[in-house]
Amino acid sequence: MKPIRKFTVRAVVPGSLSALEELAGNLRWSWHEPTRRLFEHIDPVLWRTCERDPVAFLGEVDPARLGELAADGGYLEWAERERAGLREYLSEPRWFQSLGARVPATIAYFSPEFGITEALPQYSGGLGILAGDHLKAASDLGVPLIGVGLFYKSGYFSQSISPDGWQQERYPVLDPDGLPLSVLRDPDGSPVQITLALPDGASLHARVWKASIGRITLLMLDTDIPTNTDELRTVTDRLYGGGGEHRLLQELLLGIGGARAVRSFTSLSGTPAPDVFHMNEGHAGFLGLERIATYIGEGLTFAEALQLVRAGTVFTTHTPVPAGIDRFDRGLVERYLTSSLLPGVEPADALALGVEPGADPATSAFNMAVMGLRLAQHANGVSKLHGQVSRRMFGDLWPGFDADDVPITSITNGVHAPTWTDPALLGVAESTLGTGDTEHADWRSDALSDAEFWNVKRRMRLQLVEDARGRLAAAWSEQHSGSAAPKWISKVLDPDTLTVGFARRVPTYKRLTLMLQDPERLRSILTNPERPVQFVIAGKSHPADDEGKRLIQQLVQFAQQPELRDRIVFLPDYDIGMAQVLYPGCDVWLNNPLRPLEACGTSGMKAAMNGALNLSILDGWWAEFAGDDYGWVIPSADAAGDAGERDALEAAALYELLEHHVATRYYERDGDGVPVEWVRRVRQTLATLAPELGADRMVRQYVEELYRPAAEHAAVMIADDARSARDLAAWAARVRGSWPNVQVTHVESGGVDSPHVGDQLQLRAYVELDGLSADDVTVEVVYGRSRADDTIDAVRRASLAPAPVTDAASAAASSGPRLYTGTVTLDRAGAFGYTVRAVPRHPLLLSTAELGLVAVAT
Ligand SMILES: *Cc1c(COP(=O)(O)O)cnc(C)c1O
Repeated sequence: MKPIRKFTVRAVVPGSLSALEELAGNLRWSWHEPTRRLFEHIDPVLWRTCERDPVAFLGEVDPARLGELAADGGYLEWAERERAGLREYLSEPRWFQSLGARVPATIAYFSPEFGITEALPQYSGGLGILAGDHLKAASDLGVPLIGVGLFYKSGYFSQSISPDGWQQERYPVLDPDGLPLSVLRDPDGSPVQITLALPDGASLHARVWKASIGRITLLMLDTDIPTNTDELRTVTDRLYGGGGEHRLLQELLLGIGGARAVRSFTSLSGTPAPDVFHMNEGHAGFLGLERIATYIGEGLTFAEALQLVRAGTVFTTHTPVPAGIDRFDRGLVERYLTSSLLPGVEPADALALGVEPGADPATSAFNMAVMGLRLAQHANGVSKLHGQVSRRMFGDLWPGFDADDVPITSITNGVHAPTWTDPALLGVAESTLGTGDTEHADWRSDALSDAEFWNVKRRMRLQLVEDARGRLAAAWSEQHSGSAAPKWISKVLDPDTLTVGFARRVPTYKRLTLMLQDPERLRSILTNPERPVQFVIAGKSHPADDEGKRLIQQLVQFAQQPELRDRIVFLPDYDIGMAQVLYPGCDVWLNNPLRPLEACGTSGMKAAMNGALNLSILDGWWAEFAGDDYGWVIPSADAAGDAGERDALEAAALYELLEHHVATRYYERDGDGVPVEWVRRVRQTLATLAPELGADRMVRQYVEELYRPAAEHAAVMIADDARSARDLAAWAARVRGSWPNVQVTHVESGGVDSPHVGDQLQLRAYVELDGLSADDVTVEVVYGRSRADDTIDAVRRASLAPAPVTDAASAAASSGPRLYTGTVTLDRAGAFGYTVRAVPRHPLLLSTAELGLVAVAT
């Protein structure tokens, strides 16, 4: 029988156990092991069946058992202690509170996905997990941040694999009442409703769910409410589900609706309004337009409001893969960006923000990342290499500037150690190293013997092996209409075999099947009688990506071969819960993307935090952290003739490393069976690499390098009735007006006949300013090593000074080029090159490239 309606009835927990409800209501349990132990104690078996989700668990627990505990003084005391601990965590001063004055009041952090726990499946992959970890670390550090996202009724999707290896998607409906969420309400108790005006007089409405992630509130907008038409109720049905118009509606809701929800929440809760807005990827870019509309309503022009919004906005790009960037049909966007939706905003001004550089504005696709960068004065990529790649990729937005000038910095991602460190490692850190802080424990200490450490690692490997067998058996039954799984499934994998993990989404650039380049070679590595290797693999392909599904199918079919199936397994339905068992169980984490398309990658970080070594292409985070003790670098064949040759070369290097370096090292044992050198490397990784990989390091960097400057800049701009924003907008308009005529007309150099190191090059440059004053412009010499391809390397810059104007008459006429002079010391031997350029100058610009205006000597 199929129910016509479903809902969740919450458990009645005895009053004396109210601490349990309070603890279940704050998602800190998702990373706080002591709280989990408190729940587990109630019924360890049921706890596992409920996938360690306290809300579901309390709904299922036998009331008699709760009655029993309500009479157990020891348990009541334990629960009260944990409750007091939570309350203290929520209120005590933490790192951010020690920073003193001039810090952001509130940061609004927007992301289309948040991965907090598998019980709240609102994520598809790395971006979501990162956003979840960002909130958790912000909570730990006391950073006043509000998360803003959407509530997707079916999340992303659940994956199963058909007997012939094809991915199948299911969309189980989530019941928000069965989750630790509450509705944002007005003081009279009615739910807050966010409304967006749509074309033809229609409206889109949303309610707002609140989740508590430690000290952080996450707001999630949900259109599945009766005030919407049936069609509009489905706007938040799935994450990355639809294309075109459906996706546009989601992003209008996230950006515009999200900004409105933040306003309701802060005023209802008495939280200071945000002074910093953080957009993750282009998806939430419309929030900038909503804020511009608000300032226009307060009397500013579009250009003035834009300056104000930019000052307090941070844009983070998370991918160099074009398919990862949203682009909409211009006509479609035009239909939605009306003055009913955004009062006071001229649609043409809004549309111009999304025009791709160099494209015809009348036909250009509307590019969300480009809009994001135009709306944010502060921008970053997510690893050093990705910062470089982004400066090139988006360089056309700042035409005439070198990639090095492009104002996109980088902050390398990190992962939240308490979420991602296995309880077994936490336990051994507590019992032998005297700390529960696994990220900063002294893992090299003699207090912990290699044998004991290796034993813990074996336990984690065994846990993975058992978990994998259970998952495969369940998947089998599901695919074979309930029949029991065959016996061989209960024997797959082995807790004493070198275990390699590979799990991630399956876009082509991640090359799930690189390992299958030479199937015979892989087969012999897996089945090596002395040094066997086993692989545990998982990953979801986007439902519309048949190419990705074909890759999964190839892999699954390879792994189905009877002589290999206990050495290589594909586990369906990769999620946070699986990830938390997978990383600790692996000895080696494999990552082989096409360099440089992995912006950062975080799974290898999580593996390292659980005592795995990395075997990876030098991409993303690994490009800046790789070290001999931390794992192995798979050389990239960047110079290969074509993609096929590149794959073949990189796969060959992978096999060679696995067979002759990784496996040999792993099976090198002492008399007690401990791989001493391997363990030394793993302990070194935990001691010196793991502390660099934490989300706490990342969030501190965001606060110091981006949030704080953004808040300060926004404060300057808004002070005194937004005087600076008005001034800057007026000045920028004047400079733009003159710029077509600004020219470096002539450059003379002297002082060196046959140049030697130490000589001084004297420069005289004549610059036509077209009525701009010398204060409006910086004239500078840009110099360095000149290269054969006519570029300058190792670039340095020095300002030239305007020569004093002695003749009052010519100054007044201000016509004709102005003379600038300066010197450059030739302090290096070798090929030298220089040029002279003029760029706009204003104290409120953060970068010389900001306006995208430059005049270079020709
Ligand atoms: C960490 C993680 C990811 C991201 O992994 P990448 O290495 O960045 O691709 C995806 N899914 C889950 C469940 C994760 O835990």
